[in-house]
Amino acid sequence: MVRERVPEKHGIAFEVDRGERFEVIDPKGSQVADLVAFDRSDTTERFSPKYTYRRENKLRPTTGDRLYTTEGEPILTFVDDDCGVHDLLYAPCNHWVVGDYYGQTGEGGCRENLAEVLEGEGISEAEIQETLNVFMKSEIDDYEVRIAEPESEPGDTVVFEAEMDAIVGIAACSGESTVNAGGTKPIDLDIPDGSVLARNF
Ligand SMILES: [Zn+2]
Repeated sequence: MVRERVPEKHGIAFEVDRGERFEVIDPKGSQVADLVAFDRSDTTERFSPKYTYRRENKLRPTTGDRLYTTEGEPILTFVDDDCGVHDLLYAPCNHWVVGDYYGQTGEGGCRENLAEVLEGEGISEAEIQETLNVFMKSEIDDYEVRIAEPESEPGDTVVFEAEMDAIVGIAACSGESTVNAGGTKPIDLDIPDGSVLARNF
């Protein structure tokens, strides 16, 4: 494994073989990491939050739970999870999300960062709209949803195991808002040696 630090507001893409593990670490606490995952043999099949909660019957996956694809197949398993609070509801932030809701006019967000690092794999921005938002806290109250500050502490780690050969993209979330407890920070990754496909930092 090799440690990669994704700086605030940036992204990285890497590949994992079935059975390999990787870790997503929040080094400073209260920082969200947006994660997408694609079947490496056919990237039209990708992680689906909706089919994940259809399969797992929960909106906060944690240790022992699996993430499923648009075809209902397992793609990643949560092997270990220090935090337990992650989000399946929200689409990744992008230029209009950070502009309209966080006052960051003229900036891009996680969607643009993920598109940049996945372009070389033939994955377009149009295919990037469903993420697992690691360490993000969403709340539902009488069917209304809102974003709360993350509960992740410095050093909190999620260990994933690949259930198929996959391409994974991860962005350190760009929102200077409640979503990241007010300020953006880096995300650390432990990933297999030589697995990096692209990074935009
Ligand atoms: Zn974001």
